[in-house]
Amino acid sequence: MKPLSLYLHIPFCVRKCHYCDFLSFQADEAQVKDYVEILLAEIDLEAPSYKEYEVQTIFFGGGTPSLLDGQTMSRIMESLCAHFSIAKDAEISMEVNPGTATLSNLISYRKAGINRLSIGLQSAVDEQLLAIGRIHKYDQFLSTYSAAQEAGFENINIDLMSALPGQTWESYLMSLEKVLNLTPRPTHISAYSLIVEEGTPLCEWVEQGKVTLPEEEEERRMYALTLEVLRKKGYDRYEISNYALPGYECKHNCVYWTRGDYLGLGLGAASLIDNNRWSNESEMQAYQERISNKMPLSAKQTLSVSEQMEEFMFLGLRLVEGVSVKKFEETFGVSVREVYGKVLSKHQKDGLLTVDEQIRLTEKGLDVSNYVMADFLLS
Ligand code: SF4
Repeated sequence: MKPLSLYLHIPFCVRKCHYCDFLSFQADEAQVKDYVEILLAEIDLEAPSYKEYEVQTIFFGGGTPSLLDGQTMSRIMESLCAHFSIAKDAEISMEVNPGTATLSNLISYRKAGINRLSIGLQSAVDEQLLAIGRIHKYDQFLSTYSAAQEAGFENINIDLMSALPGQTWESYLMSLEKVLNLTPRPTHISAYSLIVEEGTPLCEWVEQGKVTLPEEEEERRMYALTLEVLRKKGYDRYEISNYALPGYECKHNCVYWTRGDYLGLGLGAASLIDNNRWSNESEMQAYQERISNKMPLSAKQTLSVSEQMEEFMFLGLRLVEGVSVKKFEETFGVSVREVYGKVLSKHQKDGLLTVDEQIRLTEKGLDVSNYVMADFLLS
């Protein structure tokens, strides 16, 4: 059977964070209930096309999936199990925001088959959480973390952010250390820099000078600290912003970076199957109407060979292990040197990547990955 990953989008949040441009919004109970029915109908509609696949990973993302109660998550999981063939050892992750998941819900999630949590802490400093509009305080994170242990979750990711308003490298270090001093330690840490997205309240406040972000030098120091501190504590960096204890790399996200097949279910969810890319409608009414009318999505884009090569390189190079020279040739019937010879030589000369059986970004290359990856665009 062919491997498949599933992504389910839960687009609801208690309220919008100041920096957020994800597809998420506040909703009342009735809207959430309606959405779940539509999601179940979409599972029903889509699953028959994936009979020859076995699901290796499932990811509930958002939004805030932990706004769904235990019973609702159990219903969705039961439906997935009834409609898809799911591997016994499948990684089944769910995003949880502190302050939204009760112990009884966490117990139900675990019973329903969820075996990995990703908790959005972002910072251990309450003023910084407030500055970016998060709904929780650090203490609430601690309660969620210990409730997750009590519910039987052993595989837990924690999201941290750097370059936040008011953050210094010292206070960032404090957040890192608090996370590393948790008992037991999280198995995985994602550490991203805050990106100020156009159209968000944070962007407006920065432009108006109402909010000040750390200077670039301070930000670089936080970035360097992440690698240094986490490495010392036994976490391997396996992707530009992701660190794991050995054996705990996120299998689901690795599917994205290696261009495995994945099916997105829910509002705006993206899919890649056999080199066809598509996304569900991001407008609720249009999405609900199509699913209610049992209509398949018509707009699917088949990627050209050049687009596939570009993705192969710039997604694969995000991984510290890089991309396989042999796999490139097996996939495209042409050597990577033939297609990217000039780009490889240029960045090799500058010490930004190495080429042997694998093509990898060096540590210096990972620091400036966007600059290097832009050169892999063929058009
Ligand atoms: S919790 Fe996540 S998805 Fe929801 S508003 Fe905040 S950043 Fe956006």
